[in-house]
Amino acid sequence: MSDSVFGQEKRYSFEKGLMGSPFKLVVYAANDSIAELAAAKAFGRVEELNEIMSDYRDGSEINRLSAQSGSGKWVPVSKDLFEILDISLSVSKKTKGAFDVTLGPVVQMWRHATRKGIFPAQEEIAAAMQKTGYSKMKLNRKASSVLLTQKGMRLDIGGLGKGFAAEEAIKEVKKLGITSAMMDAGGKIVLTNPPPGTDGWNINISNGSDSLKALKLSNISLATSGPTYRYMEYNGVRYSHIVDPVTGIGLLFHVRTTAICPNGTISDALATAFSVAGIEKTKKMVRKFPGTTVWLVERKGDRVAEWNTIKQ
Ligand code: AMP
Ligand code: MG
Repeated sequence: MSDSVFGQEKRYSFEKGLMGSPFKLVVYAANDSIAELAAAKAFGRVEELNEIMSDYRDGSEINRLSAQSGSGKWVPVSKDLFEILDISLSVSKKTKGAFDVTLGPVVQMWRHATRKGIFPAQEEIAAAMQKTGYSKMKLNRKASSVLLTQKGMRLDIGGLGKGFAAEEAIKEVKKLGITSAMMDAGGKIVLTNPPPGTDGWNINISNGSDSLKALKLSNISLATSGPTYRYMEYNGVRYSHIVDPVTGIGLLFHVRTTAICPNGTISDALATAFSVAGIEKTKKMVRKFPGTTVWLVERKGDRVAEWNTIKQ
């Protein structure tokens, strides 16, 4: 737990496996009980969100909503679910659909193919693709309701859920009067004020191979999307777990994308979206997101191409 002392505040670090990833919380607090309360509140909030948004649980609110797709009914949803879908839709529009929360049927198909090591048939891809498209998801803020216009739709917040959870967890920590905190939700990170007596949190980001950037950051968020154990190898070709909404197939040339921006949910969504868009399209798209910097690495044949606007 506490491993260093500065002034009256001590550094505390907590870790817990949540949403299929290690979540790490660091806080500077006056005493053990405040720090432990912060961890309980922060992780408790993530668990609460996971209950709502997990696509692995049949009874989760998001899966119950998807089950009503095509019924013609506006379904009232919780504030949390509405907010994340609202942010998703706005990012979809600004990224011309590179980010798409309605890709559930394709993500499911892809996950299944990865597990079995069998590349999906063209008809299977077409059938799944037919049930996707963010314009088929309608939102009504006043009534906090969602309409999924086509039967068989399935929402998947995997591309921004951890960033949202990190952002929400940090809100809980702030409520306790803690001003220096970091939540790392499996590579989606939200930072508040620097640790006492320093000018920033030490964050290392890498392009996946040789170069590494050591940054000092505060009051900002960042997210990295990159190859995990979740990829598919078929005929010697690697496909990412991030799906191209145009082809319905995992990305081929994606190596790693880091996005830094003021909001944790958006930085998570953008790391995924810019992975799909690639360097050239991202150069234009990023202008729609004020205060955002990125580092993109993609494979071009045998070469690796990079574009980096992150300041040291
Ligand atoms: P991330 O690690 O944030 O890039 O999220 C990857 C996850 O986002 C995948 O495992 C899918 O659940 C989901 N996903 C895949 N492709 C997309 C996409 N084009 N837009 C939105 N979410 C996606
Ligand atoms: Mg993401």
